[in-house]
Amino acid sequence: MALLDRALVRLLPAVPRPVVKRLSQRYIAGPDLADACRVVQALNERGRMATIDVLGEEVTRREDALALVDAYEDVFETIRREGLVANVSVKPTGLGLNLDRDLCLENIGAIVRWAKERDNFVRIDMEDSSTTSDTLAIYRDLRGQGLDSVGVVLQARLHRTIGDVNDLADLRPSVRVCKGIYLESPEIAYQDPDTIRESFVDIVEALLDIGAYVAIATHDEWVVEQVKRLIAERRLQPEQYEFQMLLGVREGLGDALVSQGHRLRIYVPFGRRWYEYSLRRLQENPSIATYVARDTVGRLIPGRNGR
Ligand SMILES: Cc1cc2nc3c(=O)[nH]c(=O)nc-3n(C[C@H](O)[C@H](O)[C@H](O)COP(=O)(O)OP(=O)(O)OC[C@H]3O[C@@H](n4cnc5c(N)ncnc54)[C@H](O)[C@@H]3O)c2cc1C
Repeated sequence: MALLDRALVRLLPAVPRPVVKRLSQRYIAGPDLADACRVVQALNERGRMATIDVLGEEVTRREDALALVDAYEDVFETIRREGLVANVSVKPTGLGLNLDRDLCLENIGAIVRWAKERDNFVRIDMEDSSTTSDTLAIYRDLRGQGLDSVGVVLQARLHRTIGDVNDLADLRPSVRVCKGIYLESPEIAYQDPDTIRESFVDIVEALLDIGAYVAIATHDEWVVEQVKRLIAERRLQPEQYEFQMLLGVREGLGDALVSQGHRLRIYVPFGRRWYEYSLRRLQENPSIATYVARDTVGRLIPGRNGR
């Protein structure tokens, strides 16, 4: 990342919220479920599946966690009514993990049961390393209750992950693999980008070895190419794995994957609690300086991208 970009990333938390909101619009469907529905319909028409995330994390009040559970019931209802090709993603801290682990288990359990009734699926997102063990324990607990319509996420950045793959082997899990967005200390996480990429490919390979369903969540062409090689070597059929990408990121790479016959699912967040998610996405944008400059110019020159 260039010097100016790195400086801007550090400054982002100090940027006024309305500016962050405007800059991050491409990453979020909108404030309402109807916005997510519209975006998913458009994605489906272009041959992409979706996973819908109701924004909200690190809730500090029980009633907020319960409100998020209700919001997911509405999402399932909309998916059914509108015939969307979509499942859902949930964040444990949005569903009360930091308040009470049992409350979180209950909440995720309720959402997974709705998914099961509707032949749908819930992916439990992975948050920072303080939540990893609890999140994996909740996943194991749900599977122990006979709930199969649920999957988890593993982060290539963490040293522990290859061990977690072995621990999950008896469940034949459904796992999304990603690099991991949360910056973690060198004691527990790889710091070098190439090491993280190699770890990503090793983890996908280890998951395929244990018979897992793997969702490959990345916009990194090198990783995509390596995983495509593994898929070809193992002669996997398109329904045995999927690629995943974030809304608003590297659509050209997505087009290429779809035209090559791979399945692609897009992560579609919506809701009014957009701030934390938006900051993370902007901090990952490798050309944030150009991006900010374009937005600023767009507002200064009348009629140019000013909305
Ligand atoms: C579907 C999906 C679900 C995810 N779920 C989780 C999760 O549960 N837990 C978790 O910790 N992380 C999650 N992530 C985030 C992930 O861990 C990475 O932080 C993120 O995907 C960036 O890593 P990358 O593999 O795309 O590689 P990078 O090297 O970061 O990106 C590769 C290229 O993609 C482009 N790019 C990437 N991000 C942006 C952006 N924001 N704006 C513009 N261009 C960009 C750039 O061209 C960049 O050079 C998820 C990612 C995806 C795609």
